[in-house]
Amino acid sequence: MTGQAAPRVGEFELIARHFTRPVRRAALGVGDDCALVNVSPGQQLAVSSDMLVEGRHFLSTVAPERLGHKALAVNLSDLAACGAEPLAFTLALALPRADEDWAAAFASGLLALADAHGIELVGGDTTAGPLNICITVMGQVPPGQALLRSGARPGDELWVSGTLGDARLALEVFRGSRFLGGALQGEAFEQVRRAMELPQPRVALGLALRGVASSAIDISDGLLGDLGHVLQRSRVGLQLCADQVPRSAVLAAQPLALQRLCTLAGGDDYELAFTAPAARHADVLAAGRAAGVAVTCCGQVTEWPGLQIIDAAGQALDAQAWRGFDHFA
Ligand code: ADP
Ligand code: MG
Repeated sequence: MTGQAAPRVGEFELIARHFTRPVRRAALGVGDDCALVNVSPGQQLAVSSDMLVEGRHFLSTVAPERLGHKALAVNLSDLAACGAEPLAFTLALALPRADEDWAAAFASGLLALADAHGIELVGGDTTAGPLNICITVMGQVPPGQALLRSGARPGDELWVSGTLGDARLALEVFRGSRFLGGALQGEAFEQVRRAMELPQPRVALGLALRGVASSAIDISDGLLGDLGHVLQRSRVGLQLCADQVPRSAVLAAQPLALQRLCTLAGGDDYELAFTAPAARHADVLAAGRAAGVAVTCCGQVTEWPGLQIIDAAGQALDAQAWRGFDHFA
């Protein structure tokens, strides 16, 4: 532990009490200088990191259990987007003070999601500092089977999992947005708040889409912004039907302009956007059923470059109106 804050429990006690469990799949977990992770013979290691900073990625009002869940969920979502099977993760934590209650609650949310996905915490780092959470996940995937951003081909269909926009709608509520059509209360508010605080990474869907999808990405910064990455890496264009992008009944009850903002540029969705050859349409639906997640076709890959957005009547909409969330823009 570095820094000035005087911890009530030591760094090593905190780690031992809340972040150490017997290893199952890994060969060596917390307690040595490195963890040792078994990878199945002939598979590639898929690795990804995501950092969560208070004020930027989460509100200080979020319950620590939910923060623990979300910190891992956003990382598992990257494994899902690549069609990788989760193996192990590390946790680097900066904490303003060594708060036992906070650590216990954070760990319970984190480890419950870890258990649900068969991924184990094998190490990390703990230091004093402004609250900051960085997780690195490791997964495995057979060579040639990872879903990449670069595989979309003209004629492919464009799909989205689940529904988009609820997390952004929750943020608009917290911000007291003037775009809201009336107050959002009771179960409707709880639903969108859960979407923001407890995203469900689509790991099973990513695995089911191996060999079916031609490209995939997880939607973290908003659908349009993330589709832009697919366009660039695949060197194709996309036509997206804005009104076919799936949304919850709660969001569908809001004004159309807000629905479009939330679904197209909302961010924090952690659903998958992916492409697949039109001939695999039935296989995509089967993958969704197998994974227990709705999948909706809402566009197609085009030869001409750029992202074209149309409404239900086929009229072009202006894409510049909903730029994806860029941290440095
Ligand atoms: P080193 O100084 O060699 O990097 P540390 O003293 O920081 O090791 O950590 C001791 C052990 O505790 C290591 O095995 C490390 O991976 C683990 N560890 C530290 N912080 C965490 C954490 N937040 N969650 C899980 N394991 C952790
Ligand atoms: Mg260390």
